[in-house]
Amino acid sequence: MTKSILVTNDDGIHSPGLHALADALRPLGEVTVVAPDREKSAASHALTLRRPVALRRLDPGIYTVDGTPADCVYLGALRVLERKPDLVASGINRGGNIGDDVTYSGTVAAALEGTILGIPSIAISQMALTTHERGSHDAVRFSWDTSGRVAGRIASQVFTHGLPDDILLNVNVPADPVVGVRCTRQGKHLYDQVVHEAVDPRGRITYWVGSGEATVMEQSEDTDYTSVRNGYVSVTPLHLDLTHRRFLERIQQEWEPDLDAEFQTS
Ligand code: MN
Repeated sequence: MTKSILVTNDDGIHSPGLHALADALRPLGEVTVVAPDREKSAASHALTLRRPVALRRLDPGIYTVDGTPADCVYLGALRVLERKPDLVASGINRGGNIGDDVTYSGTVAAALEGTILGIPSIAISQMALTTHERGSHDAVRFSWDTSGRVAGRIASQVFTHGLPDDILLNVNVPADPVVGVRCTRQGKHLYDQVVHEAVDPRGRITYWVGSGEATVMEQSEDTDYTSVRNGYVSVTPLHLDLTHRRFLERIQQEWEPDLDAEFQTS
C-alpha cells in the first residue's frame, strides 16, 4: 500500500523549508501538507482549545490551519486524512533545534504530537548557512537541497526499520558542507540569560525575552550541538516519556516514606 505522509512545520505555509520537505518525501509516498497559516516558531506543544480553528484547502493535498503545529498534526491525522498517516514529518525548520531549544520548538512538538497519536514521526531543522549579522535578518541563508535529501533518507530508514513506541527523531542538518552523520544525545544550551529593556512610545517599559545573540553550549563530543558544529548531520532520538528513571528510584526511597507518612489518612 502507498505510504501516507503528513508534512507540517512551525514556520508556516509560506516557508520554503516546508515545500522542500514535501518535495523530498513525494518519491516515498502520498504527501499531504497541513501547516500553520503563519509563523508559529517557539509555539512548543500548544493546542488551540479556547476558540475554533479553521482548516482551509489551498490546493490538492495542501491545507492551512489558523492554529499551532500540534493543531495541524491533530487535524491532519484525524480529519484531513482518511486513515492515520504512516509518517509525520515536521520541518524543514529555518534554524536548528538543538539542546534545550527542543522544549520550545514547534517543529519538534509537531513530531511529538504525531508520536502521541501513535504515528512514527521525525523533525528536521536546517542550521543557518551564514552567521547572523546583527540588525540584518536577511543575512541568514538556508540551503534546502541537502536537508531535503537527509529528510528523504531518514524517512526511508523509518519505513524500513520502524520506530519504537513513544520515540521520535530530531534531525539537525549543519550549514554546508555536510561531512557525515552522527547519532547524538540532546545537548545543553547555556543561555546568556539577557533581558533587553526598552521604553515604548507611551513611556511603558517593555522587555524582549531571549537575546537572540550567540549562546554558549555545553562542550561534549556526543551532543547534537557538537555534531552540527563539526559538519555532521545530527540524529537524536527523543523520548515522549519525560520521567527520569534513576531519580525516580531515588526519591521513592528517600523522599516518599516521609511525605507519604505525613499525608496518609488511614
Ligand atoms: Mn521555526
